[in-house]
Amino acid sequence: MYQKPKGTRDLFGKELRRLEAMNSAARSFFGRNGYEEIRTPSFEFAALFDRSIGATTDIVEHEIYKFEVSKKLYALRPEGTASVLRAFIENRIALPARFLYICSMYRRERPQKGRYREFEQIGIELLGESKPFFDAEIIDQAKRYLDLIGARDYTIELNSIGCQDCRSEYREKLREELKADIPKLCDDCRRRFEKNFLRIFDCKKETCQAVYDRVPKISDNLCTECAEHYAQVTEYLNKFGICYAENKKLVRGLDYYTRTVFEFKHGGLGAQDTIIAGGRYDLLMKELGGPDTPCTGWAMGPERLLLTIPEDLPALNAKEIFFIAGMGERFVGDIVALRNQIQDGGHVCMVGDPGESIKAQVRKANRVGAKYSIIYGEDEEREGYYTVKNMDSGEQRKIPKNDFVSFISETKGS
Ligand code: ATP
Ligand code: MG
Repeated sequence: MYQKPKGTRDLFGKELRRLEAMNSAARSFFGRNGYEEIRTPSFEFAALFDRSIGATTDIVEHEIYKFEVSKKLYALRPEGTASVLRAFIENRIALPARFLYICSMYRRERPQKGRYREFEQIGIELLGESKPFFDAEIIDQAKRYLDLIGARDYTIELNSIGCQDCRSEYREKLREELKADIPKLCDDCRRRFEKNFLRIFDCKKETCQAVYDRVPKISDNLCTECAEHYAQVTEYLNKFGICYAENKKLVRGLDYYTRTVFEFKHGGLGAQDTIIAGGRYDLLMKELGGPDTPCTGWAMGPERLLLTIPEDLPALNAKEIFFIAGMGERFVGDIVALRNQIQDGGHVCMVGDPGESIKAQVRKANRVGAKYSIIYGEDEEREGYYTVKNMDSGEQRKIPKNDFVSFISETKGS
């Protein structure tokens, strides 16, 4: 017997249907907002991620799957942004550009609830817009999408981590403040402070966090331009009617963010509570050799999000399962026409083996989860109706062929 690797899953049945319903809702919603889908390779040259994500991040330090073939070092894609920008530059795509990606990511993490080694992300990237309106707009779009798919009880946290100018001044201030506390910090934090100091705020250790509670924060030490940008983002969010909380310790795991950072969190998820994370990253495009281009974007973990949505998604409710049980081979023509009619009405429809007894076919209908089985034989053909059995209630009724179109369109699904 073979087993799947740790941290991976076989997706099928309801779980996959729910995931796909989220994906198709994302395609149509973000499509209406002007986002074009993009699909990049699932592996890239490893240097792309080392360069873009940042040497001291969790991802680059521990989580990337790397492999060497013919002396070339490759990596399985751990996140989407670097690949999208690489593709944008390589294919010389025009600005402004809006991309949607929906694909698997790979990270060597310790598997637990809501944390896998292969997982999906739905993400958007808006390239070429620098104004605070767009920072707020991508947050608004994320929120509207969550509302559309029936997500509830999430909160939005917001912060600004400034630009390179405010950060270098703030860094010296922080170094002074932390002097006395350095011995209390964990090894990781001490190391990070030297390499990518803002990342210390991301530390999961309570002893470190107790120190960081007391120190001055980056959002209170922004340069004039960054402070103005941040103020405008919050004004737009207020205009859009979006509730958010400022979290002065929110810094995000990746190196390339500038100014706005945000996370959507869900209280019901325990330790893995972030469902969407993103922000502005004005420095990355140039870092990767492209034109100096302001960018914003976010990534969502649909699997984690689905853990918070117990009921069926509205997008899934559009269809019902039908099963046609015919009484004999000679009805196959009518049965296939009926099947097409039901499927064209947006429902799932399967056909039984008309050589089997009605009882055997209805049993199969039950097994595949059909809501209705439709029985079709000599009486039905002669008098022009379908016998429709509701598999939940057991109720059976005759629907005239002429009324069947409206029956199909009125059936919304459960
Ligand atoms: P975390 O702090 O949970 O490790 P992260 O900062 O690594 O998150 P991002 O790289 O910003 O997360 O990814 C964006 C979203 O992708 C996360 O908010 C989460 O919903 C999802 N995600 C990240 N890693 C995983 C994983 N291993 N399994 C499932 N979903 C994940
Ligand atoms: Mg992580």
